[in-house]
Amino acid sequence: MRSRVEVLIIGGGATGTGIARDLAMRGAEVMLVEADDFAAGATGANHGMLHSGARYAVNDPVSARECAVEGKVLKHIARFCIEDTGGLFVSARGDDEEYVDRFLPACWEAGIKAREIDVAEALGAEPGLDPGIKAAVEVSDASIDPFFLTLGNVGSARAHGAIVMNHAPVRSIRRSGRRFEAMIGGKEMITADVVVNAAGSWAGETAAMLGASIPMCVDKGTMVVFNGRLVGRLVNRLRPPSDGDILVPHRTATILGTTSSAGAPGAPATSAEVERLIDEAVAIYPGIRTARAVRAYAGTRPLLGGGKAGRKATRTFQVIDHAPDGVDGLISVAGGKLTTFRLMAEKASNAVMEKLGRTARCRTADEEIAPFDDEPSDLFDLEAMRYRRGRGEGVSPAPACGCEAVSRGELELQASSPDVMDMGDLMRRTRAGMGYCQAGLCAVSMASAMGVGVKELRHYLGERWKGVEPVLFGEQLRQEAFKAHLMNVYGIDHTEAVE
Ligand SMILES: Cc1cc2nc3c(=O)[nH]c(=O)nc-3n(C[C@H](O)[C@H](O)[C@H](O)COP(=O)(O)OP(=O)(O)OC[C@H]3O[C@@H](n4cnc5c(N)ncnc54)[C@H](O)[C@@H]3O)c2cc1C
Repeated sequence: MRSRVEVLIIGGGATGTGIARDLAMRGAEVMLVEADDFAAGATGANHGMLHSGARYAVNDPVSARECAVEGKVLKHIARFCIEDTGGLFVSARGDDEEYVDRFLPACWEAGIKAREIDVAEALGAEPGLDPGIKAAVEVSDASIDPFFLTLGNVGSARAHGAIVMNHAPVRSIRRSGRRFEAMIGGKEMITADVVVNAAGSWAGETAAMLGASIPMCVDKGTMVVFNGRLVGRLVNRLRPPSDGDILVPHRTATILGTTSSAGAPGAPATSAEVERLIDEAVAIYPGIRTARAVRAYAGTRPLLGGGKAGRKATRTFQVIDHAPDGVDGLISVAGGKLTTFRLMAEKASNAVMEKLGRTARCRTADEEIAPFDDEPSDLFDLEAMRYRRGRGEGVSPAPACGCEAVSRGELELQASSPDVMDMGDLMRRTRAGMGYCQAGLCAVSMASAMGVGVKELRHYLGERWKGVEPVLFGEQLRQEAFKAHLMNVYGIDHTEAVE
């Protein structure tokens, strides 16, 4: 491995991998290191909503405009992982009826297409909505798979010459003359001219390693995954952003979100948050109360805040040059959204190129991340399958994960990648274990495809359990009772926390 690079990027979420791709396409010598797996931070713990910008139009117009522009760009460059569902904003009984009069002009002002439609038309398209909804507005929200997006960035960055590594934490960094020396994973020393801090919620800690600071305001949000597609389009509540007001149809599931509270990265979702989300969402989708919740999870928003916290904090981003703090060559990027990751990467890469004293045009708004060989049809799921199958030609089609339609061959193919070091890595690349049985039926196949033993199996099931525990009611309780019986056969207590 090379021990000296021009640019070292810390963090393998959408932002860091987007920067690696951008800079590698401009000819810079780049290395990216990710402490855990790609998309294991906020990037893999959000709704997967590609914002039209409408959610922020009234209260955060700068962010709304950024989302409006970037949403369109991503629909072009990342179509392999986007389902262009469209979105609806609906107001529930008791909501402020005047809000729509502020919402529509604010959307238009931000360049967002928004059209009020008849309530009857909205109910015809989405029969599960509360028949008492009072207004409906159509927008161009979509759903996006953040895991495939990030892995697409990784593949593209590598194809352009970048070194991109997961399970490679930066333990320390120090100045050495005009350069930086970073200790990766406790054994590799890497020298770099410029360091990019794209460590999301951990960006404050990373900057502090070099004596710099960032005014972060980390905000926890919890989401609940329901089995099946409860809605065809993204449904938002037509009111200022609040708890439990988004339903995102996502592949085989629907994601309900979210909450907003102070919370450190890694804090788990709780039953109280799940109850709160469901109580709120009933106002727009009454059937949510009896729908099958299969899992809850939480992420932390790496917000800058601008002096405010939680829902009041801006969703815009900032590229920070730490030269004024005395750390010339350190660039941090923080805040923003998954939807705006490409723009964040472009601005951060511009700052890096300036530090390197080089000029090259950004190409990421035009060139597709993972181009299709031919034009995709409208059948998103078939296309996604084709994308996956395309990487697994000639491998066994025998089913391994029935919930997510993952074949044995696909598991074996991905398990053979040097990036896949544990069962969580395998799950993020195949979706095996993400479905309604929460790995009850596929975990053993996953372990055998990787050639790992009971210890790793228990660890993986223990991680899944953390997300299942807050939703142990209704159908999922029956599923877990069945899983407990199955695991008993293997002599595994899947509810044990294993570190
Ligand atoms: C509840 C919630 C819902 C959201 N919903 C949406 C949505 O629907 N749509 C949308 O557009 N946005 C949404 N967001 C925002 C979006 O998820 C984030 O803005 C985005 O994912 C941030 O990506 P990132 O790459 O900057 O950070 P991250 O994905 O957190 O990546 C940072 C990475 O840095 C790594 N790292 C940290 N320290 C080190 C170190 N020392 N060495 C190496 N690596 C390190 C971490 O392991 C992590 O993987 C949501 C966020 C939350 C929390």
